[in-house]
Amino acid sequence: MKIARVIVNKTARAVDRLFDYIVPEALRDVLQIGMVVNVPFGKGNTLIEGYVVDFPESSNVENLKEIASLLSNEPLFDQSLLDLIYFMKKRYFSTYLLALKTVVPYGLGLSTRQDAGKLLKGSQLAISQDDAFDVLENIRDKAPMQARIIELLMQNDFVANCDIQMILGCGISAIKSLEKKGVIELTEIEVFRNPVDYSKIEPTKALVPTKEQAIAINRIAKSLSDFHVFLLHGVTGSGKTEVFLQCIDMVLSKGQSAIVLVPEISLTPQMISRFAGRFGKKIAVLHSRLSLGERNDEYKRIKSGEAKVVIGVRSAVFAPVQNLGLIVMDEEHETSYKSQTVPAYHTREIAAVRAKQSGVPLVLASATPSVESYYKAQKGKYELLTLNTRAKESASMPNVQIVDMRRELADGNRSLFSQQLANEIRANLDAGRQTILFLNRRGFSTFISCRSCGYVVKCPRCNIALTYHKNKNHLTCHYCGYTQRNLNACPECSSNYIKHFGTGTQKVEEELLALFPEASILRMDLDTVSAKNSHQKILEQFEKEKIDILIGTQMVTKGLDFENVTLVGVLAADMSLNQDDYRANEKTFDIITQVSGRAGRGAHAGRAVIQTYMPENSVLNLACMQDYSAFYKEEISLRQALLYPPLCDLLSIVFTSFNENAATSCAKQFATFLQKEFKKEQADILGPSPCSFYKINNKYRKRILIKCKLNDTIIRTVSDYLARHYKSKESKFVTVSAETNPVHIL
Ligand code: ADP
Ligand code: ZN
Ligand code: ZN
Repeated sequence: MKIARVIVNKTARAVDRLFDYIVPEALRDVLQIGMVVNVPFGKGNTLIEGYVVDFPESSNVENLKEIASLLSNEPLFDQSLLDLIYFMKKRYFSTYLLALKTVVPYGLGLSTRQDAGKLLKGSQLAISQDDAFDVLENIRDKAPMQARIIELLMQNDFVANCDIQMILGCGISAIKSLEKKGVIELTEIEVFRNPVDYSKIEPTKALVPTKEQAIAINRIAKSLSDFHVFLLHGVTGSGKTEVFLQCIDMVLSKGQSAIVLVPEISLTPQMISRFAGRFGKKIAVLHSRLSLGERNDEYKRIKSGEAKVVIGVRSAVFAPVQNLGLIVMDEEHETSYKSQTVPAYHTREIAAVRAKQSGVPLVLASATPSVESYYKAQKGKYELLTLNTRAKESASMPNVQIVDMRRELADGNRSLFSQQLANEIRANLDAGRQTILFLNRRGFSTFISCRSCGYVVKCPRCNIALTYHKNKNHLTCHYCGYTQRNLNACPECSSNYIKHFGTGTQKVEEELLALFPEASILRMDLDTVSAKNSHQKILEQFEKEKIDILIGTQMVTKGLDFENVTLVGVLAADMSLNQDDYRANEKTFDIITQVSGRAGRGAHAGRAVIQTYMPENSVLNLACMQDYSAFYKEEISLRQALLYPPLCDLLSIVFTSFNENAATSCAKQFATFLQKEFKKEQADILGPSPCSFYKINNKYRKRILIKCKLNDTIIRTVSDYLARHYKSKESKFVTVSAETNPVHIL
């Protein structure tokens, strides 16, 4: 008797295990790992999809059922992708099914359709993934088709309505009802023209490498047949891309393929043309602005080996390339590399697993590497390659000034703009040059600080800025739960001007218009950026229409490559320094470096003005000097002292419920259980404490943070707990999710 082990297409965590079936006579010689079959499931023997993962010798289950039929002739995945599925299930506390659906994109196997360049009507989730899970559970029985639409949208940022209808065989009415419920929103996006418009691409030849580039290229060339991780640390404009291009060229001449990962925001037409110019039709592009039909075409070209250089965002790390020879990950520090949905994988970790499986190098590159990666380079786990000089003679570094906002206050200036910044903006307007103003605003959490001396109220245990809760007028640490009364006077200088800090881009726009009524102003933030009105489009408008001033959140720090922008203002560096996040310094260093490194790329000298209440802060000062290694030294000793990654792992477990007490008691029980279980482990269990975003859509969120070195015992204990929870009655009203090393602890 031949037995096949399958993952079944059921999302419920309660059935998250592998199921055995008898392989019928007729399929005995054809069935392979990765194939899709129909299997009878449950008491009613309803037919559902199953994905073959193994052929065990025997099974512990009696009275096995038989596979009903074969649904696909071609395997969806091979053994190496299957190993990745197992890895993800374990490491990210996922289910088998969600891990599988992440590795193998939904809707693969569709027929080809060409709709490039058009405006495409489609849908996207209007609620968070967590909430989508809840909606799913509620409507699965009543409206199964709507449930499937939600599943599809949970795995794709955007899906064309015609694709939804084709994949699921539903009508437009199911989509419309979900919109009415506020679960999804209908939008239109412009589909990128794909494959690339080759009539506009100029072929390019390899440049003569600079000395530093040559050293890097040679070093990577020597390791092309081994698993080896390189960290290419190069200042902006040092020619990192040219290093990738030349290494990929060598890989191609060995008959192998390469994957190039880029953050969504930098996957621009210019970036694609650079690769197309060098490799012509050998490239394939994968990103979320492709219709599923087009994405499917690209997958076919990759699978068949026609496309050998895959350029894509996060999920391209799963691209089914033939004969992998190299993986490159550009801007490796970008937080968009961490998936926010279950399994919340980090692309860097997956890239390392794939490179290891194939015995090939992984090249991580950045001007401001993540502290994690730099730490590994210092420890000799990664090999550091450095590019210190710009490849091309270019504009000099900008003149960066830090402005002390405490002094402005003492001088009676209570506006958002220091005298100095206002003067600089005026000068820029008069000279007909453009200005970018940057406000780091993330969510609604606010901290308390003193405007007279710069003092910030922080958790004595975690060194994280405490968050102000308006209705209770108290301050809480979102890591450990430490709570204190709000302050009326500054403990440092006794000033009464101690209050919560927070302002939005809209307020900036108002004040700016009052100061400069004649200026044209454009705003870029979460309110103005949508699928239709993309980040890229706003930047294009800013450039083409010569808008005087662009105000924006962190989005504006990318792609600031404009000749005519000669002034960048950071309105409140404090907002980023005092995020309630242990990575606040790292994120600030990254942003300020980007901002100050980018003003004045053209022929005119650039200036940057950075406003802060903490002008002596060393992160700000080092960022202005673009001194990464000094920043790293300070930061790593802080992390060592307070025990934060990369010196340990952080496991975040969030309990969500409409019932505040239920969330709290469930979290408390788990914390007590863990204290007992982990007596022998080196694990520090913090909380339960309210999440930074405590109440979302009427649901309360409590968190436990575990500081530990993740090992098998800890992973098993947490997954077993999750499994038990999802079999219990409590799971009906409390959702529990676990995340490994989250990038945002919100
Ligand atoms: P990075 O990716 O490190 O920011 P880029 O690869 O974009 O840098 O290179 C910056 C500029 O320098 C580009 O215009 C590129 O064409 C140019 N460049 C890179 N390498 C060389 C080289 N060896 N000789 C001349 N120009 C180069
Ligand atoms: Zn003070
Ligand atoms: Zn704390």
